[in-house]
Amino acid sequence: MGTIVAARCEQCNFHRNLAVGAGMTNHGKVAKWPVWCTRCKALSLANHKAEELNCSECGSREVKRASDPAVWSGEGRVTVKWRLRVERGEPRERTWLERLRGKTPEVPTRSVDLELTDGDYLCSVCGQFGLKFSPIGLFD
Ligand SMILES: [Zn+2]
Ligand SMILES: [Zn+2]
Repeated sequence: MGTIVAARCEQCNFHRNLAVGAGMTNHGKVAKWPVWCTRCKALSLANHKAEELNCSECGSREVKRASDPAVWSGEGRVTVKWRLRVERGEPRERTWLERLRGKTPEVPTRSVDLELTDGDYLCSVCGQFGLKFSPIGLFD
């Protein structure tokens, strides 16, 4: 289930609702998340499951992610999160005891999440750090 997020700037009147994440039908291939396009200056969405990120407005690859310090103040607590993928590490060498008991050590995993916080982000309209994201609903 995806989330509808309201992006609102406290410095100017910019306001836009964004549908982030994915719905049930495209869950495996799509993970839409906000990007800041340096070409068309739009706050747009890009599919973070794709090989490369493209601005959904103009198709440019010159986009900044929400975790980029150029567009995010680095503050706030996480309010919207999307599990992008789970990465599996290399299993370590078995110890002699594990070998003796026929056990296989667990493969370490690490999840990579997309996150939005309630902190300040760059508003691409007025150029100030006054943009806030707030979840307002869900879609499936
Ligand atoms: Zn663009
Ligand atoms: Zn603004």
